[in-house]
Amino acid sequence: MDEYVKQQINENTSLKTRLEEIDVFTRERLSTSTGTHRINGIPEIIRVPVVFHVLYHTPDQNIPMATIELLIAALNRDFNKRNFDTTNTPSAFKPYAAAMDFEFKLATMDPHGAATNGVIRKYTPINYWMSDDKMKFSSSYGDDAWDSKSYLNIWLCNMRDVLGYSAFPGSDPLRDGIVLSFEDIFKARGTSRTRNDFRTLVHEAGHWVNLYHIWGEDYCGDDRVDDTPRQSSYTPGCPSGVRISCSSTSPGDMYMNYMDFTDDVCMNMFTMGQRRRARVLFEPGGPRNSILSSKGLNTSTIEAAPLPDFYPKWLHVKVYPNPASSIINLYFEYDERWMGRQMQILDISGKVVMSKVINSKIEAIDVSRLSAGIYFIRAEKEEEKFHAKFVRL
Ligand SMILES: [Zn+2]
Repeated sequence: MDEYVKQQINENTSLKTRLEEIDVFTRERLSTSTGTHRINGIPEIIRVPVVFHVLYHTPDQNIPMATIELLIAALNRDFNKRNFDTTNTPSAFKPYAAAMDFEFKLATMDPHGAATNGVIRKYTPINYWMSDDKMKFSSSYGDDAWDSKSYLNIWLCNMRDVLGYSAFPGSDPLRDGIVLSFEDIFKARGTSRTRNDFRTLVHEAGHWVNLYHIWGEDYCGDDRVDDTPRQSSYTPGCPSGVRISCSSTSPGDMYMNYMDFTDDVCMNMFTMGQRRRARVLFEPGGPRNSILSSKGLNTSTIEAAPLPDFYPKWLHVKVYPNPASSIINLYFEYDERWMGRQMQILDISGKVVMSKVINSKIEAIDVSRLSAGIYFIRAEKEEEKFHAKFVRL
């Protein structure tokens, strides 16, 4: 199981019970279902309204709509077996490869019934995030989830520890959804690294519909899907040919499954078993059934609330005037958490020549007693460092 999910279970013991209940539900339904396209009254195509929360700290992170559309297109491509690289699926596994029959769509109606384009853009003073869910709450400079009974929430932010992670069905509704790092979105840019098919997002969406990793989170573990062979562990990079790790016979490991860790360019399939396991969640009584009655894709006549969608002028600490002869002003206006932090001025040799506590949003510093030359200003808080250079005339 993902480190993230393990941690959630440690913090919340009822979650473990809830996940087990969902597993029992899934097993029971699968044992009675026919496995055909229409099981227990759910539509052939499951439509999922999606809302993106873009938490940008720098202008390039405020990614354009075209990139958001690529992310949605990647989900629809791989969840419907419309990827051109199905030809790379080994012939022994081809009969098991499946279209999951999901359609992901940007929300057109928000939880208040107003029109939306399905994207929330929000400047955040946070530089780096950890997989601790802080990005899911406005109170910690992230953005609150839209009702996760009706929407798939996807937070895009700058992660420090992982490229992405997802909550499993049954999780705390306020934390339910997927987190994807900008690093993953940008990874193909300007480098010769592997092709970026946004399959980290596809993999995380697999978790969102209750799919475990292909190796069953354990050495030759059980992923609770019967047409994925047992596999000893995750697959880094991009192997080829038959690889046998737990089952003793060919065709061996299904390392090209989206629920492995293989490079984007080397994964290309979900299975029929994964399809059944995922779709059961949407049946009446299932933990994702409410998505089917979401109003998130309705047409609204109420105009969208005007959202500020601009690059804030106050994004970074400003130093003014520069060069300075007597007073230099530091603007910390955008983020009150700088208050009470230590600030230092260093000379060109790195020696601290002045030190003070920041106690005003516009901090005026008397530099008249410094001799002429170049100086550095330094301040630090947990998430962010601030460096600036100024010239004393
Ligand atoms: Zn995973």
